[in-house]
Amino acid sequence: MNMMIKAKNLIHEYIRRDEEGNVESINRALDDVSLDVKKGDFVAILGHNGSGKSTMAKHINAILMPTEGALYVGGMDTKEDQHLWDIRQSAGMVFQNPDNQIIGTVVEEDVGFGPENLGVPTDEIWKRVEESLKAVGMLEYRSHSPNKLSGGQKQRVAIAGIMAMKPQCIVLDEPTAMLDPNGRKEVIRTVRELNQKEKVTVLLITHYMDEVINADKVIVMDEGKVVMEGTPKEIFSQVEKLKSYRLDVPQVTELAYELKKAGVPLPDGILTIEEFTEEMKKIIH
Ligand code: ADP
Ligand code: MG
Repeated sequence: MNMMIKAKNLIHEYIRRDEEGNVESINRALDDVSLDVKKGDFVAILGHNGSGKSTMAKHINAILMPTEGALYVGGMDTKEDQHLWDIRQSAGMVFQNPDNQIIGTVVEEDVGFGPENLGVPTDEIWKRVEESLKAVGMLEYRSHSPNKLSGGQKQRVAIAGIMAMKPQCIVLDEPTAMLDPNGRKEVIRTVRELNQKEKVTVLLITHYMDEVINADKVIVMDEGKVVMEGTPKEIFSQVEKLKSYRLDVPQVTELAYELKKAGVPLPDGILTIEEFTEEMKKIIH
């Protein structure tokens, strides 16, 4: 079983009813979504506001149930009640606002809260708190007050809190949306390291293109559908298509694309300044 998350023709409809229970409106937020996330992969989901990304995340944590189709986490069907606990423990969630995720008055207490709730023995909790804080580069802040940390640091503490529950997978729903550029970099670097060193499966939901260039796979959503799927290079080679889904491409990708259109013989899908520089050198020399 090497599939971490599997959506099979998943449909989600938000149904609004009046006081008598009559249906007032139906909003199809997920429209026949099928996708696979393999164990150990770093998968990014991109999409404009309202494309269904958060609805997808809530299905992975069994907060929402499929209207039609199915969603499996580690092979477990989210519709089956007896799996609820295991599913929530397998897939840890990190949300946009770090302030809403901090409960403790001291960093280490905050990180220990999750495993404590799971009934993990005290010695083991301390071990996990230490390991998790170390993994996100926040060990030296263990006895600080979370309130005084920067947004990026708070988000890393929130990630440590999830890691301390030893999930197989973490789902991050726009974890950097409220952070400044430095905070964003810190968090993305941390997430990548957890994926590479701790082998935790990552599903990163974002609308920042530059955060996904290192992903193993990128999934683009629009109006509740998966509209593109591929490696970052495959995805970012399609600048016009991305724009049609109201997404921007990384600046350097856009620059290379415009130069190519103007006749400069550059390849498609340049993602980094280093790549761009290498290609330019070939042309100039
Ligand atoms: P995203 O996270 O990509 O911005 P969402 O999953 O939040 O998208 O929303 C997808 C669609 O579902 C949008 O049209 C949104 O208005 C609608 N929606 C989200 N949450 C609810 C809700 N609780 N009730 C009704 N409609 C909702
Ligand atoms: Mg959202």
